[in-house]
Amino acid sequence: MAYVITEACIGVKDAACVAVCPVDCIHPAPDEAAFTSEEQLYIDPGVCIDCGACQPECPVDAIYPLDEVPEHLAAYVAKNAAYYGR
Ligand code: SF4
Ligand code: SF4
Repeated sequence: MAYVITEACIGVKDAACVAVCPVDCIHPAPDEAAFTSEEQLYIDPGVCIDCGACQPECPVDAIYPLDEVPEHLAAYVAKNAAYYGR
């Protein structure tokens, strides 16, 4: 399983989640070139260890565990995976 970043991140992108992820699986980080062009950040489902550390850090509640992603935000599961070609 993995955590998923959804719509509320768009336009906020404060990277608070990036700072706490123990496995560095949230990208693009502020020091990456794609940070300015991507509208939101994404979690790599193949690397996320499901620790949950990022979720309480998000000021706009954009992060959900895979099995708790609301139905209307379901497309973001694939959107996160697609960023990593998964
Ligand atoms: S759940 Fe843990 S490992 Fe997964 S993205 Fe969040 S902080 Fe990183
Ligand atoms: S903490 Fe929330 S709003 Fe900030 S970058 Fe992460 S997912 Fe986006």
